[in-house]
Amino acid sequence: MVEELGKLLSPERVLSGEAVARAYDCDAYTVDRSKPTCVVLPLDTAEVAAVVRWCVAHSVPFTPRGAGTGLSGGAMPALGGVVISTKKLNKVLQIDIENRMLKAQAGIANKRISDAVAEFGLHFAPDPSSQTVSTLGGNIAENSGGPHTLKYGVTTQHILSVTMVDPLGEVLEIGSLVPGAPGYDLLGLIVGGEGTLGVVTEAWVKLTPVPAAVRTALASFRTIRDATECVAAIIASGVIPAALEMMDKGVLRAVTAAFKLDYPAEADALLLIEVDAKPVSERNAAIPRPPDTDSDPNAVSPKRPTPNETVEKELSHVIAICNAHHAISIDMAQNEAERQKLWVARKKAIGAMGRLAPSIVTHDGVIPRSRLPEMLDFVYAVAEKHKIGVANIFHAGDGNLHPCFYFDDRDPKQVEAVIEAGEEIIKRCISLGGSVSGEHGIGVEKSDLLTLMFTPDDLRMQAMCKQIFNDGMLCNPCKVLPNQKGCVEHKKRWRGVGW
Ligand SMILES: Cc1cc2nc3c(=O)[nH]c(=O)nc-3n(C[C@H](O)[C@H](O)[C@H](O)COP(=O)(O)OP(=O)(O)OC[C@H]3O[C@@H](n4cnc5c(N)ncnc54)[C@H](O)[C@@H]3O)c2cc1C
Repeated sequence: MVEELGKLLSPERVLSGEAVARAYDCDAYTVDRSKPTCVVLPLDTAEVAAVVRWCVAHSVPFTPRGAGTGLSGGAMPALGGVVISTKKLNKVLQIDIENRMLKAQAGIANKRISDAVAEFGLHFAPDPSSQTVSTLGGNIAENSGGPHTLKYGVTTQHILSVTMVDPLGEVLEIGSLVPGAPGYDLLGLIVGGEGTLGVVTEAWVKLTPVPAAVRTALASFRTIRDATECVAAIIASGVIPAALEMMDKGVLRAVTAAFKLDYPAEADALLLIEVDAKPVSERNAAIPRPPDTDSDPNAVSPKRPTPNETVEKELSHVIAICNAHHAISIDMAQNEAERQKLWVARKKAIGAMGRLAPSIVTHDGVIPRSRLPEMLDFVYAVAEKHKIGVANIFHAGDGNLHPCFYFDDRDPKQVEAVIEAGEEIIKRCISLGGSVSGEHGIGVEKSDLLTLMFTPDDLRMQAMCKQIFNDGMLCNPCKVLPNQKGCVEHKKRWRGVGW
C-alpha cells in the first residue's frame, strides 16, 4: 500500500510506521482509537482523487482528516486503512473582494482566511475556538460554530460551493456562487456530512465585513444559576450580542492557576459579553430609505445612530440586566489590548485544563437556553455521582453546553465513567427538548445516541441521503449512522481499554 501510494504521490508524502500510527489513531476525542496503515499528504484535488480511486480499487477504507481537533472521533480511521490528510492543501486560491468571497483549499486553517482579507475590512465569520489550527474542510464537515455563531450563524451559512472528491474518486462541484440556485440543496448535505460523503478539497466561502464597533465586558457572578438566568434574560430582552460565553468555577480554577489571572474570589461563574455593530455603509444598504425621501431628493433622512452609539446603547442595556442578576463585578475593555485580555480565559481555557488531568473529554449538547440553570445542576450531580472532575465552558447564548470531564484515560474505570456520564447528560438534553450535538458532530462518540432522537424511519432516510454519495463502507466508515456493519465489534474493543 505504502509503495503504491508513494508512486501516485511521492514517497515522502506517504507516512507510515508505529509513530505515525500512534499520532493519527484519534482526534481530540481520545476515548476511541484505531490506527491507520498509512497517512497520505496530497497537494491538490487530482492527487486526492487518485488516492481515493486506488482505495476503491483495493477495497481499502479511507478517512479525511484536517487538523484532528474534532471532538467526536470523526477523523479517527475506524477500520484502519488510509488517512487522507489535508495538511498540504493549505492555499488561498482566489480572492474576489467585489463579490466578497474567497476560494481556498480545504486544509487551510480557519484563521488564515480572515488574515488574508483583513486589509479589506473583511473576515470569515465562523470562528470555532480552535480557529488558529482547525481547517476549513473540518469546519465544513462538522458545520462548526463558535463564540460569534449567536449573531453570525454557523459554517453552513458562509459556504457558497465546494469541490469534492466523492467516495468513488470522481470530482464534483457542488453549490453556487450566486444565491437561490435551483434544485435540491446538496451543499446542505455536504456541510455537516462529517467527511462521510467525500473529501472536500476546495471551497468558496462568503466574506463578512469586520464590525465597525465592538464592546466587550466580563461579568462575574456568585452562582452559576445567576449567570445562566442572566443569559436567558439578555436574549429574551431582544438584544443579540455577538458573543455570550460562559465559564464556571472549574474553568476559573484552571485559567487562574495557568495564567495567574485575577478574578473575584467569590465568583463561581464568568460571562463574557461582546456586542458589535456593522459599518454604516452596510446598515444603509440593509435599511431601505423611507418612502418620503425617495420622492423628495432634498428630504433629510432621520439620523441613524453611529456604530459606536449602537454598541454603547446595547452594552448599557446588557450591563443593566447583569446587575439585575446580581453580578459581583463587571470589567469593560476600553481598547483592543484590554479586549484581548478579557478573552484570555475563554480562549485558553481548554489548554489550561490540561493541567488538571491527563485527559479531557469535551461533551457537546444543546438545550433551550431557558433550561440552562437546571441542566447545569444536573451536570454537576452526574460528575459527582461518577467521581470525575468537570468544568463547564460554553456558548451560552446558543444554549450550547460543553461539560469538560477531566480524568486519567489510563484507568479503564475512569474511561467507562466518562462515557456513562456523557450519555446521561445527552439523554437529559434530549428530554429537555434539546439535541445530541450542538456543534461537535456525531462521529463515533454519539452514533448510538442518535436512536434516542430519531425513529428507525428517520435514520433510514438519513442513510438514503448518505447513499447518494457513498454507497459503501470505504469513505470514513463507522461514523454518524448507528449499527453499521463491522463497526459495533470495533467499538466494544476500543472502549474501556487502558492505553
Ligand atoms: C480547543 C478546541 C476548541 C474547539 N472549539 C470549537 C468551537 O468553538 N466550535 C466548534 O464547532 N468546534 C470546536 N472544536 C471542535 C473542532 O475544532 C471542530 O469540529 C473543527 O471544525 C474540526 O476541524 P479539523 O480541521 O480539526 O477537523 P478534523 O478533526 O481533522 O476532522 C473533523 C471531521 O471532518 C472530516 N474532515 C476533515 N477534513 C475534511 C475534508 N477536507 N473533507 C471532508 N471531510 C473532512 C473528518 O473526517 C472528521 O469527520 C474545538 C476543538 C478544540 C480541540
